Amino acid sequence: MKKLCLIALAVLLLLAAGCQWLPCGGDAPLPTWDAGQTDPATTAAQWATTAPIHTTAAPATTATPVPTTVRSYNGIAEGDVLPGELTFYCECAKCNGKWAGLTADGTVLADLGPEDLPVAGANWLPLQSLVEVGGTIYRIADRGGPGLNRVGRLDIYTPEGHEAALALGRVRGVEVRIVALPGG
Ligand SMILES: [Zn+2]
Repeated sequence: MKKLCLIALAVLLLLAAGCQWLPCGGDAPLPTWDAGQTDPATTAAQWATTAPIHTTAAPATTATPVPTTVRSYNGIAEGDVLPGELTFYCECAKCNGKWAGLTADGTVLADLGPEDLPVAGANWLPLQSLVEVGGTIYRIADRGGPGLNRVGRLDIYTPEGHEAALALGRVRGVEVRIVALPGG
């Protein structure tokens, strides 16, 4: 028995000594939090209540595209093509009465030059609307009698004079395209 006890003691001593040399970690200090370190449990609680939620930076792929605005007026929208009818007038008193030489929006007809858009009168569109007939864009700058109330009806200003306007007569069966309506 004494021999066995000695062997056991020797084994214990060897094990104890081995711990000094082997990286068993028995004497390694436990990690501690110093004053400058935040307790991870507290930090987690704070994040749970105050962390920002990522709702503002939406991915670009889900961004709503800016809708293209198509203006409209009394059910007439930009891009519409309407059946129309043309008459022609000049700046004279026969065509305009007391408004001779001046349009409803204040344009002096004699001042219009080749760089200006041709002018037309209509009551069914806002002033400054743009319409296209046969490849020519006209600016709605004038008003007229009840005949110009009908949708599609245009009175085209004719700088060549009264006789030229009369000679052009009345043109039916044209297409009037609404290029642009004013405002926005
Ligand atoms: Zn005239």
